[in-house]
Amino acid sequence: MDSKEFRRRGTEMVEYICNYLETLEQRRVTPCVEPGYLKHQLPDEAPEEPEPWEKIMQDVEDKIMPGVTHWQHPRFHAYFPSGNSFPSILGDMLSDGIGCIGFSWAASPACTELETIVLDWLGKAIGLPDSFLALKPGSRGGGVIQTSASECVLVTMLAARAQAIKYLKQQHPFVEEGHLLSKLMAYCSKEAHSCVEKAAMISFVKLRILEPDEKCCLRADTLIKAMEEDEQQGLIPFFVSTTLGTTGSCAFDDLAEIGQALQRFPSVWLHVDAAYAGNAFICPELKYLLKGIQYADSFNTNPNKWLLTNFDCSTLWVRDRIRLTSALVVDPLYLQHGYTDSAIDYRHWGVPLSRRFRSLKLWFVLRSYGISGLQAYIRHHIELAKRFEALVLKDSRFEVCNEVRLGLVCFRLKGTDRINEKLLSSINASGKLHMVPASVNDTYVIRFCAVAQNAKVEDIDYAWDVITDFASEILEKEQADEVSEIVDRRKTHTLAQKRSFFVRMVSDPKIYNPAINKAQTPHRMSTELTSPGHDGTVVKVQSPKTPGSATWISWPLAFLFASTDDGTKNDVTLRFRHLDTMMRLSASRRNSATGGSSPSPEAENGITLLKSPKKSPILMRKRGSSPNPPPTVVGANNGSAK
Ligand SMILES: *Cc1c(COP(=O)(O)O)cnc(C)c1O
Repeated sequence: MDSKEFRRRGTEMVEYICNYLETLEQRRVTPCVEPGYLKHQLPDEAPEEPEPWEKIMQDVEDKIMPGVTHWQHPRFHAYFPSGNSFPSILGDMLSDGIGCIGFSWAASPACTELETIVLDWLGKAIGLPDSFLALKPGSRGGGVIQTSASECVLVTMLAARAQAIKYLKQQHPFVEEGHLLSKLMAYCSKEAHSCVEKAAMISFVKLRILEPDEKCCLRADTLIKAMEEDEQQGLIPFFVSTTLGTTGSCAFDDLAEIGQALQRFPSVWLHVDAAYAGNAFICPELKYLLKGIQYADSFNTNPNKWLLTNFDCSTLWVRDRIRLTSALVVDPLYLQHGYTDSAIDYRHWGVPLSRRFRSLKLWFVLRSYGISGLQAYIRHHIELAKRFEALVLKDSRFEVCNEVRLGLVCFRLKGTDRINEKLLSSINASGKLHMVPASVNDTYVIRFCAVAQNAKVEDIDYAWDVITDFASEILEKEQADEVSEIVDRRKTHTLAQKRSFFVRMVSDPKIYNPAINKAQTPHRMSTELTSPGHDGTVVKVQSPKTPGSATWISWPLAFLFASTDDGTKNDVTLRFRHLDTMMRLSASRRNSATGGSSPSPEAENGITLLKSPKKSPILMRKRGSSPNPPPTVVGANNGSAK
């Protein structure tokens, strides 16, 4: 394609996009296809010869579009908004046209400098403290665009981990880093996004998942109690991730209270994940939700959720950029000069080396709407959510299940989870609306989010009409058909497993494999920081006797435990809450303590893997002649699934 043809095709593409967005309403909001639908329609191999443009575009309409879920559709009320606007699309188009890879300042100075400036703009608009802004005199902070909130959480956890290990290493210079690592504990609420757990898995640290209060809000006393307990066990709290605007129900952790309480733990990194809600803080009347931000070490929000900016654009600010980059830099020379360097090299702020010119689209958006235009957009969505909430409250068959502060309403039919599942699945199957469920206080709720950029009052009223129509039908049928109810009840288990990906991803604790993640009051363990294999301490992971405890631990070594074998068959079903995946780990290795022949790195350190009488996995360090009974560590639990 030459530039002459690009001009023509470009104009056509703009036309196609405009038509698509203007006539979206005529399409089904969700596609009606089965997995693998596209495989049957496209050839097995890429074409050998060039194909005409018209033919490609025809396939877009005939084959691709039928498999698209239309996130910009006025009937789409699932998840959170997926930011989209014409200025943003054009900004991204320009970025593609320029096609630079801005990994360092020199690799494309404007790419770096615009990102710094635009993040300062947005940080100021949100109301972040000056110490988060790169260009404030005396500030050590700054902002960066990452691909996703998950990545923001990961890199801050990595930074916190590096900081913690460095600090511990100073205190215990002869202890191996790996041993120090095994003592680190991160914290978040059960309502935190699953990306925190994923970050802990990648960082190979333990994560304690805490029970929030009845408003789904993590409270300081819960956190501090857990941290103190863990400290008594010899573990080292190093990272706390709080959420402002949880994915399940847009609840807010008590950041002010938590930040204040964490003053007693000065080396603990406090992160704030405000992927959705953070965008709303550009409105002065909503800044109260940011209370406590002065205690935070880092903060992230996704303009690609609720600020009319296309994916990907996830913004992260840190109070001390050196602490972030020290964990990620691979150029020691840079570190030495990092403090004085006036130029930022964003490759040290995240995982990838290569970076797109993502600040362009955000700059386009901020300039073409102005803060006032963006505030109007946010306020409009909140008004629509309030309208929807009022409609729900007026109908005595329904209840509202969250405090509606922003654009998300969680509601349900008063009654069983099953009837709500039925309601939602019938609505979604009809293609008239799209919503997803969540679990709020262990109850199945339906999430309704104001999503479309130009959503209107009529769209909300239409949605409510659809919902009440389906509800009436289901309630009538329910009364009429007692027999089928009994049959259905038998299917409850299957239904629960078929719950949308979203429930699993977000907040359903039952998705955890209780055999791994259900924590208990920790037992005592060695508090001595000594090199493994030399102190001879026996450390055991044991299943607790008390189920129903409030917190959970995501344990990075769970896979290793689950795959060990002491002779008996040990099949452990693992379920990942963020993936629609079930897997069975079959016992395949014999460990050295039971005469197994396969060598393992654990055995070299004197750590062997065993199982308890209850078939729960045990981590044991061999001890010569211990006068004391073996101390026990927090860990895996084989309690029954709820
Ligand atoms: C959406 C969301 C995330 C995940 O965002 P990605 O950018 O998709 O990784 C994380 N945290 C919260 C609170 C969210 O709402």
